[in-house]
Amino acid sequence: MGFWHTGYEEHHQVSSFWEANEAVNLCIEYKCEQCVESFDRPDLLVEHRFSAHPYEAPVLLIRGKEVGSLPTNINTPLTPNDILICNAVNSKINGSQVDLKEVAIQLSKVRQENIDLILSNNELTSRYRLRFNISSDKDLLGIEAEFLRLVQGRVLSRSAIDEFILKTANYKSAANYVDGLCEYFYGVLAKEESECSSLKPTKYREKFNRSAEQLIDYSRTLANYIKGLIAFHFNHFTEARIFLNVGNLFKVSSFYEQIFSGNDVDFERYLVADSQLLENILMDEETNLILNFFRNNNPSRADFNNLEQKLISTKVSEFGKIKLKILKIKLLIKYNNENQAVSILKELKGLSYLELWVGQVMKKIEQAR
Ligand SMILES: [Zn+2]
Repeated sequence: MGFWHTGYEEHHQVSSFWEANEAVNLCIEYKCEQCVESFDRPDLLVEHRFSAHPYEAPVLLIRGKEVGSLPTNINTPLTPNDILICNAVNSKINGSQVDLKEVAIQLSKVRQENIDLILSNNELTSRYRLRFNISSDKDLLGIEAEFLRLVQGRVLSRSAIDEFILKTANYKSAANYVDGLCEYFYGVLAKEESECSSLKPTKYREKFNRSAEQLIDYSRTLANYIKGLIAFHFNHFTEARIFLNVGNLFKVSSFYEQIFSGNDVDFERYLVADSQLLENILMDEETNLILNFFRNNNPSRADFNNLEQKLISTKVSEFGKIKLKILKIKLLIKYNNENQAVSILKELKGLSYLELWVGQVMKKIEQAR
């Protein structure tokens, strides 16, 4: 339950939930932008990119991600190894010719500057706009200290966020960090139809996406947890697991990740313990609601009715309803109500990412008959 809900009472421990100055190294996947393949090393992605999808234009990859024509924010320092250039012969930085071999070294030295990078080969040219605003540790820590003060105020409202923005205005090098945190808060307020939100509830999706985008560079506990919550919300469970790293929601993401990859695992194996601190502070109502079903080893009729109600509630998103329907199917089968389970399975059948799992459960039901 988020700190803005009533149940949060552990504020005295807040400062202990992450180590100051902590940067986390995540095991990121390098995804091909052209197909579904992903790799655990950027050089493997490059190899695949060229052999599977031949193309002519120069390509720039930063930290294994292909850079497009839209401006790209860079908030944490690059090392030369973070930068890969393919299919280029010439390069220009801010209009000046630069030896191709020097580009990565030069970019890794930039701190606060907008860079206009042009890569070209004999036929084609690609242009990139890189906005370097490397966050200082001092600014990041200052923002996290203000975030703790926001949490201790126990109110999430537009005025509380305004105050947070005001108090962090001097931490300019980490402005995108503040923005990423605030976009998440605005998203939650919109989604939970808070009175102080001026946004339509459906706007939360934009806000969540923008939050994840702004926080992408920041591999810090707080940022990663929010990225994990957002990925969980959108049913991107592999990503959610990477960002959450440990904890209850990590466990629940693991359950759904298995289901989404077609393995019909039992949810009883993924039951969670009491809330952990970061969850208490950051979790939105819908995620908490889903987590609650994993706290209960032996759901009663009342719990089941509650689940049914949530499935028709307008406050639960379509993404949340998919998660809940999977739980409902699990419960119905547990209580030998296969007919009803089959009718919900049929509803989910059209979703390509659940096709494998639905087929597997249907088969099991058939065989048991
Ligand atoms: Zn591919």
